[in-house]
Parts: sequence; C-alpha cells; structure tokens
Amino acid sequence: HSALVWFRRDLRTHDHTALYHALRGARRVFCAFVFDREILDALPDRRDRRVEFIHAAVAELAQGLDALARTAGGAGGGLIVRHGRADGIIPQLARELGVAQVFANRDYEPAAIARDRRVAERLAADGVGFADFKDQVIFERDEVLTQAGQPFRVFTPYRNAWLRKLDGFHLQSYPVEKYAARLAAPPAGHALPDLAALGFEATNLSELRLPPGMSGGRRLCAEFRARIDRYREARDFPAVKGVSYLSPHLRFGTVSVRELAAFAWHRGGVGAETWLSELIWRDFFHMILWHHPHVADAAFRPECDRIRWDDAPELFAAWCEGRTGYPIVDAAMRQLEQTGYMHNRLRMIAASFLTKDLGIDWRLGERHFAAKLLDYDLAANNGGWQWAASTGCDAQPYFRIFNPVAQSQKFDAQGRFIRRYLPELAQVPDRFIHAPWTMGGLDQQAARARIGQDYPAPVVDHAAARERTLARFAAIKG
Ligand code: FAD
Repeated sequence: HSALVWFRRDLRTHDHTALYHALRGARRVFCAFVFDREILDALPDRRDRRVEFIHAAVAELAQGLDALARTAGGAGGGLIVRHGRADGIIPQLARELGVAQVFANRDYEPAAIARDRRVAERLAADGVGFADFKDQVIFERDEVLTQAGQPFRVFTPYRNAWLRKLDGFHLQSYPVEKYAARLAAPPAGHALPDLAALGFEATNLSELRLPPGMSGGRRLCAEFRARIDRYREARDFPAVKGVSYLSPHLRFGTVSVRELAAFAWHRGGVGAETWLSELIWRDFFHMILWHHPHVADAAFRPECDRIRWDDAPELFAAWCEGRTGYPIVDAAMRQLEQTGYMHNRLRMIAASFLTKDLGIDWRLGERHFAAKLLDYDLAANNGGWQWAASTGCDAQPYFRIFNPVAQSQKFDAQGRFIRRYLPELAQVPDRFIHAPWTMGGLDQQAARARIGQDYPAPVVDHAAARERTLARFAAIKG
C-alpha cells in the first residue's frame, strides 16, 4: 500500500521520524506540504519573513526529496505543494492518491492539535489512518515526570530528570535514506506557487545573515560548532556572536533537534552543557503548553489573572516602535523590527520593561513578538513572556524586576549593540550611553543627541515604576 507524509514544522529530508516510519511501512510514499490559509490569513502583514523563509525551505525540500529518491536508486521523488485549508486538502489528497495512511510529526499547539483531530476524523471516515510521531523535541508530553508521576512545573528539577533520562537511544537519528527508493514522484500540477500567488510580498530576508532551508541550517550549525565551547561566556552579550542563531531552523525543522542535542551531549564541557540546557528549556515549554493549554491566553498561575495591568496605548506604541528613551530597550525593539530576531538577553529585558516598567499586560507584548519573530513559537514565546511577567512557572516570584540601565551596563558595556541600532546615539560617550538623559546640555550638543529632540526622554522613571509593580503584585496576594 502507499502512504502520504504531511510535512509541517519539519522541513528537512534527514533524521525525520514521520518520513522514516512511512518509508519503512509502505511501498510507495508521497510527500506533501500545504500553505495553510487558516494560518496565512491570520498573519497581520503581507510582508512576512516567515512565509518567505518557509517558501525557500519548501523549495529546497522538494529538490532534496527528489535527490534522496534518486540516490537510493528510485525513479525520483518530490513534494506535492498545495495552497488552501490543510484540514480539507489533506483528506482530499489522501483520497486522490489512494493512500492507506497519512503520517505526520506531532505539533503541541492547541490550534494544531484541533486541526490534526479534524484531519484524522475526516481520514477515518474514508478508512484512511493517521499516525503522528514525536520529532521536534527530545522528550514530550508525559515522558519526563516527577517521582509522583506528575508533570514538572519548575525548570531545574525538570532539567535534572530530563538529563537522567537521556541516553543514546533517544538521540538516534531516523535513517530515511535506507528506504528512500520508495519515495513517489508527485502527480503533475503540484508545483510550488510563488510568494505573490500566496498573497505575500518579498521582505529583506535575503539581506539578513540568516540563510533559510536545510542548507542554511547546515551552515549555521557548522559555524556554531566552532563557537560552542565559548557559549557560556558569550551568550549574554548581544553585540557578540555568541549564540547559535538556529531558532528559526529549529522552529521549522530545517535542522534536526536530535542531531544538535547529540552533538552537544557528546561534546561535553560547560559551553555545550549550557547550550543543551537551552534545548531543554525548549522541551520544557512544549511540555508546559501540552499539559496546560490555558497558558495560550491566560496566566499559568490563575491568581495572576487578577492583576490589574495599565491601559496605556501610547506607552505601548513607544515600546513597539523603540522610542521609550531607554537605549537598550529601544535598540532591542529595532532589532526585532529590522531583522525579525532579538537576542535572548534583550527579549528578557524588553519583556520585563513592558510588564514591570510600563505595567502593560504581557499578552500585548507576546502578540507583538508573535507578529514579528522569525522564530516565533507559541510554547517558547508564551513561556518567555510569562517568565518575564512573573505570571508563569518560575521559581522566582514577582520581585524579579530588571533594572534596564543596570542590564545595559552589564551586557552592552560599551554600547556597541545600542549604537548599531540607534545611530542617533553613535556619538554619545560610553558613560552616558545607557542613560543618555543624564547628559548635561553641553554634552548633548557635542554628541548631537539632544534629549527630547534627537532621542526621546525616558517615558517612565524606573524607580517609581518598580514601586507601582510591587504594589500591583501585592494587591493580588491577599
Ligand atoms: P541559542 O542560545 O543558540 O539557543 C539554542 C536554542 O535553544 C534556540 O534556538 C531555541 O530553540 C532554544 N531556546 C533557547 N532559549 C530558550 C528558551 N528560553 N525557551 C525555549 N527555547 C529556548 N524562542 C523561540 O524559539 N521562539 C520564540 O518565540 C521565543 N520567544 C521568546 C520570548 C521571550 C520574552 C523570551 C524571554 C524568550 C523567547 N524565546 C523564544 C527563547 C530565546 O530567546 C530564543 O530561543 C533565542 O534567543 C533564539 O536564539 P538562538 O537560536 O541564537 O539561541
């Protein structure tokens, strides 16, 4: 019999769980990707780097599948690409192709779970099976539990249990090459639509140093392997090339998380161990979302839904547009706008600033990041926001309030990152770069950075905002 593999956030031809299982079990295997209107229509902007990133990855995937089939001695494979609602197209495609089963890798987002359930039901009505697999994380759902058999709510004990459970078996890759001759060529008429046909326009993606597709993922991996030993010291400094920049590739599965985790695990040393911890955070937030889907629109801790956030549209706009008067926050927000990426340290600073300094509901910030981040992932983004807002599963209670000036002094001491994104502050001396409003009039003139004219005055006073935040949280304690 034949089978259909439905690609979603796993746009690669190697170490692919669903593809492996389909190839092992069926005589002929078709592969498909759907540009899902349900997802595309919800995007706020017709210029969206993610659509372009996926488009490039899908083109490479189609070629890669064909090459894979030929190398294995088959007649050639490829990818059926369709455009419409996935929950209708997949069952229809299964009927057209006459497959006995559809294979996919699991997605843990509530909307994806609901979609997959609809698809499975429609397939079942036609007598077609639906099989899904773990692929995008190392451990999922109930695989790592407390001794009492409960899901963890705090990261560190989760990480320890995760590491205890890890062994070579869980990191083994799925050798799709072995049966790749069974890949079937797509029927005619399934070519890749161009961006315009999808209703989108080109972005500046090609100007960024973020190569898409499997080839881009490979390149970034190779670069990062040479830096991983220094990860622990370098990872907190946004002006330094310390982190991997692999998040969009992990998001869309153009790299294999098993391969990356295996590399870090075998490498050992503090750099690789620290980096492996970041992959464990990724598993952790997916696990949290799976067990607590309410976090998608409510606080992880229910009492935190009683917090009275401020309604401050002007302050929110200043934050989004990078004109809060706090250079580290503004540079971070401009990095997001210009590149679709923001360094992790800056995500924490920007999120803390929105919730703790401006007193604005974390959900607004979360939504803004969701619209802009190339690596946007519901589980990680929500987890990061709830961590910063102190509404989430965090051992530290609400009194963690970042001081944006102190953070800036510590992690961008010479203001190199700030100056990269705020050219108006290029000539401000190092000692004022973190708080330019403390410059006297003459210094402002000399630096051509007049506060209130060339660069905004701070929109809030941090010390006063801190007191308001403590009161805001104290109010829900009783
Ligand atoms: P590296 O430091 O090289 O880390 C390697 C990988 O580990 C990352 O690619 C990512 O997949 C994973 N990872 C690292 N840190 C975390 C974390 N805290 N939680 C979950 N996974 C992590 N990450 C996303 O992938 N998508 C998001 O939408 C997202 N939103 C965030 C929002 C906020 C407010 C915060 C504080 C963090 C968010 N993160 C998100 C986590 C983290 O900032 C990014 O994963 C990281 O900056 C990506 O850069 P990198 O690949 O160079 O990271």
